[in-house]
Order: sequence, then structure tokens, then C-alpha cells
Amino acid sequence: MKRGSSTRTVNGLSLPQVIAMDGPSASGKGTLSRKLAKELGYIYVDSGAMYRTLAWHCLERDVPIPTAGQLNPVTEKPIIAALRRWKAELKLVHGALWLHVDGYFPEKEIRTDRVERAVPVIAQIGKVRDWMVARQRDCIQFGPLVMEGRDIGTEVFPLAPVKFFLDANPEARAERMQGRGNSAGTERDHLDMNRKKGALIPALDALRVDNTGQTVEETFAVLMAHVRARLQLPTAGPAESKPAIV
Ligand code: C5P
Repeated sequence: MKRGSSTRTVNGLSLPQVIAMDGPSASGKGTLSRKLAKELGYIYVDSGAMYRTLAWHCLERDVPIPTAGQLNPVTEKPIIAALRRWKAELKLVHGALWLHVDGYFPEKEIRTDRVERAVPVIAQIGKVRDWMVARQRDCIQFGPLVMEGRDIGTEVFPLAPVKFFLDANPEARAERMQGRGNSAGTERDHLDMNRKKGALIPALDALRVDNTGQTVEETFAVLMAHVRARLQLPTAGPAESKPAIV
């Protein structure tokens, strides 16, 4: 299961081999994280899928999910109880790690509207975040990672040697969300940016990349150049320095 060392020495420091990719919804994190992981032979981790899986699990079991404004120790309790009871386990499937519940990964179910609405609420609960952050840190046992999320560079792996904060202007993101039939992204971003714990903010040492109007290839080239510089990898060969397809 293990893929090489999970730490890397950069300038004499032993750092977790993690590329942290944070940003709001429809900022291109997913596409670019998967592409980086493939290019580097790292394991891809979608931390949002872990939160979504818990939201789905609660909905399946009729655990009441309050609105964000109704969160308090009493309304949080059944969700925390479900988290304590569920049998969740990380499994490596084709180069990516997914949280399985009772041996099942609800790949399609976690993309539904009801999960979309519930997930930013459960992601506000401190004990839920503690559990998720611990599991996300466990991922490093499987090998080097590209992990996408909201708090990867700030909370989960603050010592990651490479951190990105991807963004695009609101119009471009709204257009991408519309293309995916995602209606709740803006509302989720608002809740994610304004929560007390693990809020969506760029790490101080993250490279901020606004990819409005860029092709995937163009943004990928920017990210790879930064990865190479930070990890002291050899520079790009001719294949990668080709002009981007527009
Ligand atoms: O990345 P994705 O859009 O699938 O994430 C779904 C939700 O999970 C986010 O809107 C956020 O509420 C929560 N999340 C989080 N921290 C992360 C990843 C996702 O709070 N690291």
C-alpha cells in the first residue's frame, strides 16, 4: 500500500510530502489536484468528500440536521453521536483515498442537493472538524499526497512544503457552478469563510492563483513551476513547456 517516503527534506527540514490545495467552490481545485497528483505520482485526496460522506450518512439515518443559525450544543449532539458510531475507513482506490462507511463509498450520493445543503452546516461543528482533520492527517501513512479542501494549508498540514490557494472571480465561478448544476456553492462559500474553526482563508505561505479566464493547462503550468521550485525538482522537459491550448 505504501508509496515511498511520506516526508521530504527541503533546505534541511523534514516536511510531510503534501501539496495543499485550498480554495472556494468552483475554483478549479478538483481538476488541478487530480492532474498534479497524476503528474507527480502522488495520492489524491478530496477532503470535501469526507465531509460530504458524513452529511450523507446523517441524512440516511434521519439524524436531524439544523440550519447553520440553529447550531448549538443540543442540535450538534445527534451529529456528533453519529460520528462516534459510524464505521468509517480510508481506502486507496486507483491512486485516490476515499472514506468508506461500512465498506461503501457513496460516490454519487454525496453530490446530491440535500448533501450540498447539509455539508457546510455539519462542517461548522468543532468535533466534526477535529475528527476530519485527524483522518486527513492519517492519509500521509499511505504516501505523498495532493489534498484539496478549505483548511489543508492552514490546519491539516500547516508544514506542507507546497500550498496553493486557488480562486477565480465570482462571475467565472458562478458560470462553472451553473455548468455543473450546483446551486448552493455561493451559500456554502459564505458559511465556509465565516466559521470559527478551519475557515476558508489562504495560508500565509500559499501561492494564490486566480485562474479566471485561464485554461486548465495554463494554470497547471503555473502550479507545476511552483512545485518544482519548492520541491527542488528538475525543471520542465519540452512536453510541458508547450504553449497552452486556448
Ligand atoms: O470540496 P467540496 O466542495 O466537496 O466540500 C464540501 C464542503 O465540505 C465545503 O463546502 C465545506 O463546508 C466542507 N469542507 C471543509 N473543509 C475541507 C473540505 C471541505 O469544511 N477541508
